[in-house]
Amino acid sequence: MLLPEAHREISRNNAPASYARDFASGAEALDVLSASTTRLRLRRSIEQMTSAGWCYHQVLFLARSIELKAFEQLASLPKIREDDHSSCRRNGLCVAHNVNNETYRTRHCTTDCDREILSVPQEELTTIIGAGHIPLVSIDRNDEKQKDSPFELKLHRRDENSSYTAVSHVWADGLGNPHDNALPTCQLQKLSIILRHLEMSSKKGCCTAISV
Ligand SMILES: [Zn+2]
Ligand SMILES: [Zn+2]
Repeated sequence: MLLPEAHREISRNNAPASYARDFASGAEALDVLSASTTRLRLRRSIEQMTSAGWCYHQVLFLARSIELKAFEQLASLPKIREDDHSSCRRNGLCVAHNVNNETYRTRHCTTDCDREILSVPQEELTTIIGAGHIPLVSIDRNDEKQKDSPFELKLHRRDENSSYTAVSHVWADGLGNPHDNALPTCQLQKLSIILRHLEMSSKKGCCTAISV
């Protein structure tokens, strides 16, 4: 599974330490009046976004990366995701998607769903990784009528001819699992449909790297 540390690493790279410097050096080059107006508009948009629930670090990154008018436009839009970024500023990096293994729950597509959880073959997975290879997982139709699930997860060893789709940020969307390389059938079905559409449009992907 995609490790939560990967997100942490990305956030670390976006650490705000240099932003204040950049703002300061940029402001020095401006006329005093326009600099103060710019700072005021910047500050207003930053406050607007952080009070709307945006991550402090993402806001600073955007403030530095895009033009002020575009930044103000962005600040006026409603925030779509409901992640909790309230402690990111205190921590010096974004921690909204860090995983607590004790409390993390793998999500079904709907809250009342109780369809079974499917695992990749653990022994085969260990063998592939132990031999220094990269495992790929495919979501295949299960044609054996006596089995309960309409799907089964098959492992493949990646080679130079492999064509696959990598699904990232799975933990943030409830598709992580701290206890097993396994996901609910409903989520696998949803992934399978998305990937089939993607494959039809690109004529490429055949496997899904959801568990590497
Ligand atoms: Zn954050
Ligand atoms: Zn489900």
